[in-house]
Amino acid sequence: MIMTMPFKATWTPASAWAAVVARDPALDGRFVFAVRTTGVYCRPSCSARRPNRTNVSFFQDGAAARDGGYRACRRCHPDLPVSDPVAAARRLLEGTEARLTLDRLASLVALSAGHLQRRFKARYGMSPRTFQDRRRQDRLRAALRGGMAVSRATYDAGYGSSSRVYERAGSELGMTPGQFARGAKGLAIRYTIVDSPIAHRLLVAVTDRGVCAVLPGTTDAGLEVALAAEFPKADRVRIDRGADAWLTNLVRRVGQEIGGKVGTTGPVSLDLRGTAFQERVWRALLEVPRGITRSYAEIAGAIGKPRSVRAVAGAIAHNRLAVVVPCHRVIRGDGSLAGYRWGLPMKERLLAVERGSPRQR
Ligand SMILES: [Zn+2]
Repeated sequence: MIMTMPFKATWTPASAWAAVVARDPALDGRFVFAVRTTGVYCRPSCSARRPNRTNVSFFQDGAAARDGGYRACRRCHPDLPVSDPVAAARRLLEGTEARLTLDRLASLVALSAGHLQRRFKARYGMSPRTFQDRRRQDRLRAALRGGMAVSRATYDAGYGSSSRVYERAGSELGMTPGQFARGAKGLAIRYTIVDSPIAHRLLVAVTDRGVCAVLPGTTDAGLEVALAAEFPKADRVRIDRGADAWLTNLVRRVGQEIGGKVGTTGPVSLDLRGTAFQERVWRALLEVPRGITRSYAEIAGAIGKPRSVRAVAGAIAHNRLAVVVPCHRVIRGDGSLAGYRWGLPMKERLLAVERGSPRQR
């Protein structure tokens, strides 16, 4: 390709360094610079932080740099032919999960933004922006299918970590963001927040089918944010205690469950709302008796997926029915507590209480 044509160096170390400092894309393909401390070589326009001049040496091309023991930068792809900036742009997008603006991308491949936009679209049928969105959605779908907790999956897929990503991921995927919380759009949720022995405050939310969330916390405002993150598109209405018979009844039953009292009227109605995989995991948790613990591997075995321990752990981490779906009864195979969505001290406390007064459900 372009580098096969022999040419005389048209730069000196001093002019090359000036181009590197300026991140001058016009000199891409004319030389590469290599950094002793990282062992990496880059094109002049690379967006990476500038190294100390004393650690930099210059090579005619990537082959010469590799002979010198360096490897190509994964950020600027110095060996991509500069004669095909559109393909280079695509490779750059494929090589990163970070967001690249059109301007940034255009400067990396030394085209104007408008020019890159037109040529990229003509060749790949979509803008660089849409291309990035698609890739991000694919990553998120794959992670969710694997049973990863939605907060972790959205972050890993490149959506960032703010609570707004739930909204954005949801609208992009055409599903409600509470990780396949199917039908949550327009879903009527009533909730109340009460004092509880297991936490300062306890939010209990119900649908017409049953209890859909039991969230312990310290402040009412924080609990309302947590509920919104789980069901961002639902109609969430806070009900005064006692004003709704169904809610009041379920709150009382949840209290009995948490207190380890065997209900006289059967189990609490639950509205689990997860992926098929998550619901299988959560139902397996319901089978773990009070006073007993299981390992993640045992739960994976119980649902017939002995090799899906990580996905099982992800589903457990996304349980939104504290204590009622007893995810606190799952610990590591070596007996250590592992994590807990509402903090390890609470998990420790719950297990201690249950071991002290073992009562079978
Ligand atoms: Zn680089």
